[in-house]
Amino acid sequence: MTQVDVLVVGAGAAGIAAARAVRAAGRSLLVLEARDRAGGRARTDRTTLGAPFDLGATWLHEAGANPLTPLAAGAAPFDHDTVRSHRCCIGDRLATPEEVADYDAAYGRFHAILARQRGPGRSAGAGAPRGGPWDATVAHWEGEVICAAPLDAMDLDDFLDTQLSGPNLLLPGGLGPLLQGLAADLPLRFGAVVERIDWGGARIAVEGNFGRVEARAVVVTIPTSLLAAGAIRFDPPLPAATLQAAHDLPLGLLSKIGLKAAGPDRLDLPDFGGLERQVADPADPAMSFVAWPFGQDHVMGFLGGDAAWALSGQGVAPLLDHALAELRRAYGGRADRAIRADVAAMHDWGADPFARGSYSHARPGRAGARRVLGTPLQDGRLGFAGEACHPRYAATLAGAWDSGLSAAAAALHATKRDSSGALMPKVS
Ligand SMILES: Cc1cc2nc3c(=O)[nH]c(=O)nc-3n(C[C@H](O)[C@H](O)[C@H](O)COP(=O)(O)OP(=O)(O)OC[C@H]3O[C@@H](n4cnc5c(N)ncnc54)[C@H](O)[C@@H]3O)c2cc1C
Repeated sequence: MTQVDVLVVGAGAAGIAAARAVRAAGRSLLVLEARDRAGGRARTDRTTLGAPFDLGATWLHEAGANPLTPLAAGAAPFDHDTVRSHRCCIGDRLATPEEVADYDAAYGRFHAILARQRGPGRSAGAGAPRGGPWDATVAHWEGEVICAAPLDAMDLDDFLDTQLSGPNLLLPGGLGPLLQGLAADLPLRFGAVVERIDWGGARIAVEGNFGRVEARAVVVTIPTSLLAAGAIRFDPPLPAATLQAAHDLPLGLLSKIGLKAAGPDRLDLPDFGGLERQVADPADPAMSFVAWPFGQDHVMGFLGGDAAWALSGQGVAPLLDHALAELRRAYGGRADRAIRADVAAMHDWGADPFARGSYSHARPGRAGARRVLGTPLQDGRLGFAGEACHPRYAATLAGAWDSGLSAAAAALHATKRDSSGALMPKVS
């Protein structure tokens, strides 16, 4: 039977960060990962479109504070914000400059109004402005697209606390290879699905299809969707508050699709250019697009919230059909000539048994859940990490990475060695 100082469950950003910290401290370590690769919800498809395409995490947000920014320095990061442009349609025509200015003003109004309503127990949707020509479009963008869920489903304070700003970096080679490079040389066991954690004794026993591993401390980084669904059985059961926190931080769904150009037509969109449309209802299944990143001949399409869940579990065809129908709204039959209907890149995160969604939001009234979930148990012997645990950078790689470092620090503290190298008793 394998025995280690620290066991990490999951090799996404949180697990990789935790494992690197444990390794740097010179402790024995093992990472158990259910998939056959590292990176979790950051995965890059390098073949389908003939160019790297991030199927999950895409941007390094708020790059100035993002712990992954320095680690990505060698990957030619590009600041998307320096070339951002948006083409916004109303029906089948382009919005006029005056209408675009109104749209921008509606954004400013939305954020100012929500910030004034800060207070416990409110949903982000309750006080969002309504009735103006762009209010539903702003709510759709801020809810379904950015947060992968409707504003009504999420807590206002958490929504405000986790707002992100730029710079937003894109990597030409994708984020998957970055994370896989950061996981290189870690003691990883792939295809290892953790099913049970017995944390009642002096050592924590972890069991699954790989057998049994014992550790002095364990860091669990699986998504909250899986924790809440009981994918891992804990013995003794988790404290009610910890389990409730997992339930209070459900994953929304953002589906991303890569569409390949059929020929030279670039649909009048510049490289990195955005395309979106006005909606009358935030729940409108509208898609947003980013065209031709790095001059490559593909477009990224995004569909979020209930509309994404409705297409999950059905393979790539319905999402591709939907994306083409959306482009036809703006371009008519030209869309069918410009975009191939026989190839597309996507990953169904909603149906993925090791994700069951894209990233977390806090239910109304549950803004405190992130801190509860991120609070280590038994002085750090059992800790949870992952994007959902971060009160500031939730839903992002940055939050996942940071929370992994925190959980590792607690685990290292719980497994301190004395100067002779012997393990110290648990700190209480
Ligand atoms: C479409 C999409 C777009 C996104 N865009 C961005 C973006 O632009 N920028 C950004 O910063 N973030 C983005 N995100 C979010 C980002 O991907 C996540 O926040 C981040 O990857 C989460 O990392 P994590 O370590 O918390 O979880 P994960 O990456 O999910 O890692 C958890 C790991 O645990 C493994 N696991 C699960 N169950 C078990 C088990 N029982 N036993 C063993 N292993 C198990 C999983 O396989 C996984 O590898 C996006 C996500 C999606 C899906």
